[in-house]
Amino acid sequence: MIQITNMYKRYKMGDNVINALNDVSLHIKRHEFVAIIGPSGSGKSTLMNMLGCLDTPTEGTYILDGDEVSRLKDDRLAEIRNKKIGFIFQGFNLLQKLTAIENVELPLIYQGVGTKERYRRCSEALENVGLGDRINHRPNELSGGQQQRVAIARALASQPPILLADEPTGNLDSKSGVEIMRIMKELHAGGNTIVLITHDNNVAMQAKRVVRIQDGQIIEDREVE
Ligand code: ADP
Ligand code: ADP
Repeated sequence: MIQITNMYKRYKMGDNVINALNDVSLHIKRHEFVAIIGPSGSGKSTLMNMLGCLDTPTEGTYILDGDEVSRLKDDRLAEIRNKKIGFIFQGFNLLQKLTAIENVELPLIYQGVGTKERYRRCSEALENVGLGDRINHRPNELSGGQQQRVAIARALASQPPILLADEPTGNLDSKSGVEIMRIMKELHAGGNTIVLITHDNNVAMQAKRVVRIQDGQIIEDREVE
């Protein structure tokens, strides 16, 4: 599903070069649940940008679901990103004026999915995250944990092959964080492929495999019991 091989990302800062990713190779199979963990400045966001087709590497290859994406131009990259990746962010990124289901429907409107099919898929996605009875609530009428569940439903509704979650519990109290991780585990059990980026060891340990990054390099890659 994900095959990153000998990837480098360098940033030029005046005369200095920062090796944000320094020879990273990472293979992730379909139906895996992987946490990428590392301290601040270790290269997590840079790797997330690569995985999510938000940026391209300086060197190395990235094959995503059969497509070589490391040398693509922005417009092609965006096309693949929209088709293959469901993003879940720390900040939820919901539109406040829209109800839960309208937020979930938005990407499908852009994809040209018809009204009936859209409603079916989005109400089902909201059911799947336990918000079947909240579909007409607006974000400010929902708790933080519920807002993140709306964001997860939005990612699910497009049925992407990969869910990419960037610090999904970062803005939540610990109880809501546990709830979100429970949903992640359910989604994994239901067949989803999940890659989660975090600095929090307790969050990472909920995944099935933990990849530890430090100074732009993978220093540990192991299964969780
Ligand atoms: P993390 O997400 O783990 O905090 P980042 O991927 O953001 O780490 O950063 C890795 C390294 O690359 C850091 O040294 C950071 O300062 C540097 N870096 C990240 N983005 C840029 C950028 N756009 N320009 C210059 N340096 C950057
Ligand atoms: P949780 O226990 O999941 O953190 P809260 O205690 O924040 O949830 O909220 C309990 C219930 O009250 C939730 O089901 C939510 O729908 C509702 N609720 C929370 N905040 C608001 C609000 N600002 N307006 C209306 N309903 C709200």
